[in-house]
Amino acid sequence: MKIQIDEKDFGLMLEYEQIKKRIRLIGIQLTVDYENKVPVFVGVLNGSFMFLADLVKEVTISAEITFVKVSSYDGDKSTEKVKKEFDLSMNLKGRDVIIVEDIVDTGITLRYLLDMIKKHNPTSVKVCTLLLKPKSLKENFEEIAYVGFEIPDEFVVGYGLDYNGLGRNLQDIYRAV
Ligand code: 5GP
Repeated sequence: MKIQIDEKDFGLMLEYEQIKKRIRLIGIQLTVDYENKVPVFVGVLNGSFMFLADLVKEVTISAEITFVKVSSYDGDKSTEKVKKEFDLSMNLKGRDVIIVEDIVDTGITLRYLLDMIKKHNPTSVKVCTLLLKPKSLKENFEEIAYVGFEIPDEFVVGYGLDYNGLGRNLQDIYRAV
């Protein structure tokens, strides 16, 4: 199936049913890994809002949820400059933190977030990302513990991810064609 967003063509890549199934499994894994802990999920806005909402519903242990907002993309290009739009509103000292990302591409945003969060002296920091582009990664992160799908180096939209601000509300994920 093809769609157009802001005059750019996109083709279907991942259907919501497939995404939901994968999230269910990650939720079970998190529930086991963080048993007897009360982790803090740090959602990275804007892109992760939909993933985070579906993910935490599959986690059955007690947990807290907070958000940060950063931006680095301009249209379909990474600017390599990360900007903090709003900061963490919570002290993460001594906490088990799970950063929830929509997508890790070059890893520049993740490096920025990890450095920022580690300054709080949390007990542990892990990363849960729905999508990972392994070929674009500029460094290897031992913190990336949960990955929904590894995808090729293509621009994607939908399920929280945008193109020029549009397409975030799509249920499925589409690739630029
Ligand atoms: P990185 O810093 O790892 O290169 O990029 C991370 C951020 O860039 C993501 O959180 C996301 O906002 C944006 N991004 C990276 N790849 C894509 C993509 O394929 N589609 C969209 N819509 N955003 C992307």
